[in-house]
Amino acid sequence: MQTYAYGYPRLGANREYKKTLEHFFKGDITEQELDEALGGLQNSILETYKAHVDDYPVGEMTGYDPMLDTAIMLGIYHPASHADYYELCRGSKALPMIKWFNTNYHYLVPDLGTVPPFGQVPVWNKPLQYWDRHQEGNPYLIGPLTFMKLSHGHEPSDEPELLLELARRYRQVLSELPRVHIDEPALSVELPDLVFEATERAYEILAESGTGIHLFTYYGVPDNLERVVNFPVSSLGIDFVHDADALPALKRSGFPRDKTLVAGVVDGRNVWRTNIPGTIDLITDIAKVTDRLAISNAGPLFHLPVSVSLEPQDSPLLPHLAFARERLEELRHLSRCIRGEEQPMSFREGAHPSVATVQEKLRLLSESDTVRPLTAPQRAAVQRTELELPMFPATTIGSFPQTSEVRRMRARHKKGEVTSEEYNGFIKAAIADLIRFQEEVDLDVFVHGEFERTDMVEFFAQGLDGIATTTSGWVISYGSRVYRPPIIFGDVSRPAPMTVEEVAYAQSLTDKPVKGMLTGPITILSWSFARTDILQDQIANQIALCLKEEIQDYIKAGVRIVQIDEPAYREKAPLKKREWDKYFQWASRAFNIASAVDEHTQIHTHMCYSSFEEIIESILKLNFDVISIEASRSEVGVLHGINKGSFDRQIGLGVWDIHSPSVPEVEEMQHIIQQSLEVFDREQVWINPDCGLKTRQWPETEASLCNMVSAAKNAREVTATAEV
Ligand code: GLN
Ligand code: ZN
Repeated sequence: MQTYAYGYPRLGANREYKKTLEHFFKGDITEQELDEALGGLQNSILETYKAHVDDYPVGEMTGYDPMLDTAIMLGIYHPASHADYYELCRGSKALPMIKWFNTNYHYLVPDLGTVPPFGQVPVWNKPLQYWDRHQEGNPYLIGPLTFMKLSHGHEPSDEPELLLELARRYRQVLSELPRVHIDEPALSVELPDLVFEATERAYEILAESGTGIHLFTYYGVPDNLERVVNFPVSSLGIDFVHDADALPALKRSGFPRDKTLVAGVVDGRNVWRTNIPGTIDLITDIAKVTDRLAISNAGPLFHLPVSVSLEPQDSPLLPHLAFARERLEELRHLSRCIRGEEQPMSFREGAHPSVATVQEKLRLLSESDTVRPLTAPQRAAVQRTELELPMFPATTIGSFPQTSEVRRMRARHKKGEVTSEEYNGFIKAAIADLIRFQEEVDLDVFVHGEFERTDMVEFFAQGLDGIATTTSGWVISYGSRVYRPPIIFGDVSRPAPMTVEEVAYAQSLTDKPVKGMLTGPITILSWSFARTDILQDQIANQIALCLKEEIQDYIKAGVRIVQIDEPAYREKAPLKKREWDKYFQWASRAFNIASAVDEHTQIHTHMCYSSFEEIIESILKLNFDVISIEASRSEVGVLHGINKGSFDRQIGLGVWDIHSPSVPEVEEMQHIIQQSLEVFDREQVWINPDCGLKTRQWPETEASLCNMVSAAKNAREVTATAEV
């Protein structure tokens, strides 16, 4: 049995990728040193592949993001230097970033609005460059369909034609290559007929190059599998892990004898060890359809940390985990078992500790635990009087600059160099300073600043039982940014309040309302690796019950506003839209279990993205009073997603784009407020930055918030005068 692997993390066992990029950004290393370091990482990935599997891609390495590289290869952008390239990644010309499918990896979004004419030769034949250098593996490319689907700036009706234009450019790139690896996860989303037909045509165009194409679909099974199996490629990768329909679909479609089926059988997106005997059975079943069969990972391995061996070896969870390197070992083992060279390792499902009290609470849940009293406008009226807020209340999203001092204290506390008492004293002093600051700036609803939090998910994972955190389980979220996804292994419960002390302390220092700040159940679930022995909605409900307890403790402590951040609510939606209803049903229910409090407590939620058209109804299933969104960059675009009159809540407009260090002008922000009044009543509008401020510096934070409050005050005056 041949083995294939792809998508191995570029991060490096010691986060070399991140460190190298950061050194380069600081000017500590030269362009040449950067290139050499990335080349070294590419070499070590090839070595790792070679030690475990028979075949693999080459050239998955990138200076920042493969989508941008593809756009450059196709002549969409023409950076002339490293500096130009990184301008597109993170400078003033930075492309927007979005989540890659329903994962937590962000890619740079190319703009296909004006596709410049293609010259005779591709501007940068990246795969050829890697082929020339290594002469091994399959030069790596993101496929034309995925590239187009994930780009912006074009009309859906133009897609069939655009795809063919892109395919002609790909053909030119391919013409110099003997074989390639092409990723096409977009084949697993629902495609309009015309787009699917154009994809078939596109692959015929690619095949004209005579290049051997290893085509990989993953995250789900293509809808038109019976036609995809007939694409003119030499092998086709199908994901047998993330779609229960994969095997039945394959049996229905059959598999032609002219190509190899590369069956994705070990999970590229979750961390649990593979059930080897069970997987051998699966492979045996697949082999009944075709004997030209190889096995691989299902989904790229970069969603996983590098290796379990980097974790402290005493964790009881460890024997049950497999990260990227262990997936390669599993593939090697599977193939040896099938060849009769090794005995299948027996499989023991890890313990998923069940907690009787959690089970009991879940059992007792009923619809009445998800509803709030009164209608949203009635609640708004009650809250307006009780909270004594002005028109256009000004607030922030939660975090304030995490200065190096804050991060240093946290690191020293973790190492035991600073006592818990000293650390808590430091955090309280930071909170007290921030309360004074918010008084001076004259915001209307305060926050405590989130200085005690490393990461909005990891922090809660540490406070909850049933969720483990790792020490070295880093995964790239974008560019040089990494995070450590927690691992939900058992029933989730809350042994003690997690955030109440800090928020209550902040509230004790001011008469202005302070928002309690929580990460929502869907985001905690989505940004963690989760157990698979129970359904996702059960896990979400367990987390929701913990958050509900936290909110009840807030209320007892005198907190009157609670924000539940759900930036992952949209991204966790399944790839196939026909499955959305079911998903949003349970996802909204989980949120509502957490937030079902009486009308005197105002519930906020925050989501930082801008395409609301598609999911506005699903958002309105949530029981919040106020939602804050990203509006500054997409401005009216966002607002048009919302029909005047149908929106019965309040909305916080992200009038300041915190993703750039520049300070927004008062007029600019006032303009967004004025525009919003074409869609909302003035009682509905709040004023805030578009996301948390933890990555910003203090000087621009102060200047921007002062301008923001002026914009809010001006808007109050304008509407007051308009009334007279
Ligand atoms: N409350 C969080 C913060 O301000 C929200 C972060 C987010 O939306 N990703 O940092
Ligand atoms: Zn945000």
